[in-house]
Amino acid sequence: MSRRRQIYEGKAKILYEGPEPGTIIQYFKDDATAFNAQKKGTISGKGVLNNRISEHVFTLLGNMGIPTHFIRRLNMREQLVRQVEIVPIEVVVRNVVAGSLAKRLGLEEGMPLPRTIIEYYYKNDALGDPMITDEHIAAFGWATQEEMHDIADLAIRINDFLSGLFAGIGIKLVDFKLEFGRLWEGDYSRIILADEISPDGCRLWDAATGEKLDKDRFRRDMGGEVEAYQEVARRLGLLPEGSVSTVLDLDQHRKAREEGRG
Ligand code: C5P
Repeated sequence: MSRRRQIYEGKAKILYEGPEPGTIIQYFKDDATAFNAQKKGTISGKGVLNNRISEHVFTLLGNMGIPTHFIRRLNMREQLVRQVEIVPIEVVVRNVVAGSLAKRLGLEEGMPLPRTIIEYYYKNDALGDPMITDEHIAAFGWATQEEMHDIADLAIRINDFLSGLFAGIGIKLVDFKLEFGRLWEGDYSRIILADEISPDGCRLWDAATGEKLDKDRFRRDMGGEVEAYQEVARRLGLLPEGSVSTVLDLDQHRKAREEGRG
């Protein structure tokens, strides 16, 4: 196999030059990081699951008219996407209090928010992705007002759609992170959804039990990460019917931990 040119290596993905101009190959790694890479680990099989989950979600979003970078999945760990200029802003959408919002404002995790909150963070690892406002974005020219209007509008539409999608499979969409890019066509660019949507960048809680089915299991040393990601994929209909329900495995996992402690 000929060597492909690597464009970028991130915490959970590698980007390679694609087969045609204007395309990129996204390779999903098993590496996991948290707290701005202060905590590092590997979740065996995570890349394969995230590739499938993100493919599914981006395809559904594309079908309902959300412009995305996704072209097609190539294999277990890779997908072909459109090359974009990433807007250096992480867009976080929140429906329920959790994570850094709970910590920053001293709120209890799990409190439903009276309205959806959109937050912006400057994408800069060295600075630990600091929270910013529209004012900073405008003052430093990270995105135009028109682009921010499109981003906020897309984020709300994506939230509405995903909240319904997950509610339909017994999962509460607590919060999630999005990244957008500029797709250049001649002198003009438009905003499209980029990156990935997977349990790495979403908080997903089982609607009945509150069980965490996302990367918080890794962040908080709860274990059972792969089982949780598999459970999300299974409920989305992405694993063969009759595959073991991992809710069971999560229960066993918890019991084993409790016995270990006791
Ligand atoms: O940590 P915090 O509560 O701000 O995270 C909000 C949401 O954004 C979570 O779903 C988390 O997984 C996601 N996130 C992310 N990448 C970051 C920061 C947050 O995917 N760098």
